[in-house]
This record gives sequence, structure tokens and C-alpha cells, in this order.
Amino acid sequence: MLHEATLYRLVTKCERETMDLYRAERRDDSNSSKEAEFLFHSFLEGHAFLVYTPTMFRMFQDELIASTRWITRRVDKNGSGRKYEVINPFSMNEGEGFLVTLDVNTNIGSCECQWYEYVGMLCSHMLAVLHRKNVL
Ligand SMILES: [Zn+2]
Repeated sequence: MLHEATLYRLVTKCERETMDLYRAERRDDSNSSKEAEFLFHSFLEGHAFLVYTPTMFRMFQDELIASTRWITRRVDKNGSGRKYEVINPFSMNEGEGFLVTLDVNTNIGSCECQWYEYVGMLCSHMLAVLHRKNVL
């Protein structure tokens, strides 16, 4: 019984704190939505502005900026499938890159960092490849 009461209090406290964080983020979003500034003026950035909250949009812009720091190199071509190695040109460590796969007919791809799967946003590695393919 004591464990149930403690667990109930813990869950209730987590819910309350989650709602507080949600409200704070919404307040921040509504304050900053009028200040959105486009950095690249690209189709993808415009689309991201429409579908993401302002906080997520700023995260997306950070990924866009980070994408300009990568170098992409195609390592495989099979039909419409392509594989790219995305590397940091300033890294001294061999094999520190990310592998991005892309179907050039559908522009559907994935990156081994799995940022999209975890966060729901294209990673800077995929954006670097899309930039290379002039899809941005
Ligand atoms: Zn990635």
C-alpha cells in the first residue's frame, strides 16, 4: 500500500512537471513565433516553418547550419539507391563519418545516426546530402 501511494505521488508529480514544461515551451513558442527568421530561404526551411513548433523550427535551423560543415562522398550506387559517407573535414579520426542512404527517385532516405527516428527531424548529415542533390 505504501508503495502504491509513493508511486502515485511520483507519477502525479511527473505529470505536473511535464505540464509545467509544456506550458513554458508554449509560452516561449508564442513569444518567439513572430521573430522567426529564415536563414536559407529554401523550400525545406519554409516547409519546416509550417509544420514545426517555433522551438522545433529553431532546432531544424541548427541542423541546417550544421549541414554546411559536412563533406559528402558517394560510396555506392545501385539503381536509384545511393549511399553517401558524410564526414567532418576537420576530424582527424578515420571512419568517424555517418552513412546516409537515399533513393534519388523518391528522395526517401535514412541516416545511421537515426536522428529522424528519435526526434522526428532530418539530421544535418541527411540535409548535407540533400543539399548536394539540390533537393533543399
Ligand atoms: Zn544523421
